[in-house]
Amino acid sequence: MGVHVLLRRDAGCARAAGCPITGCRRQGRAFAAGAFYDYDPKYFQNTILKGFRSTGYGTFNVIEQVAPKVKARGMDFFAWDMNNANAGVPRLIPNYAEVTEVDLNGRRTSSPCFNHPDYRAFLSGKVESLLAGYASAVDGVAWGCEREGPLNGMLSGGGAGSCFCQFCQAKGRERGISVERARRDTARWASCSMRRVRTLGRWMATSPHSGDCCCNIPRF
Ligand SMILES: [Zn+2]
Repeated sequence: MGVHVLLRRDAGCARAAGCPITGCRRQGRAFAAGAFYDYDPKYFQNTILKGFRSTGYGTFNVIEQVAPKVKARGMDFFAWDMNNANAGVPRLIPNYAEVTEVDLNGRRTSSPCFNHPDYRAFLSGKVESLLAGYASAVDGVAWGCEREGPLNGMLSGGGAGSCFCQFCQAKGRERGISVERARRDTARWASCSMRRVRTLGRWMATSPHSGDCCCNIPRF
């Protein structure tokens, strides 16, 4: 089976090996992710998230540089829209902190809320800016988002239960969900999970059989 599609990840050229098509390599400098293509602002008129063009490689445009060479080889070009939640992103993209989730205790997290209208418009704008803005170059978009849901976050000790932003609360009420009951039960679950995580941590730290199964952790 031959390769007929190139999935282009925005940060792909940051790899030490560089890009085999463009020869682009990271130059050992501070690097901030973002869009490695030029987008038309018209696609982002309905969102407060407008400035996310990465300057890590100056004006390097991965679509203009790579897509023609890919197509010359008889392959399709797919953009990879990576949307991982990262604590550094709110500092890199103006207004990003305003679209992040709100946890059980009313604190902002670093994960964007999928029910926030500005974030939804931002996601739509990216897809449109790729498929309409580069209609002859981009054949499709692969969407990536590596992040835990609220239950997984609490189970692993990495989350405090989200999202309780105004938009999620309104959506819950529209569906007949009691927000206060959800908040109360999430708090109970979070408390139980944190005890279990602490117990697991103590057990792992004291066990002489590091790496063994943890099924002997006392239940509570
Ligand atoms: Zn929300």
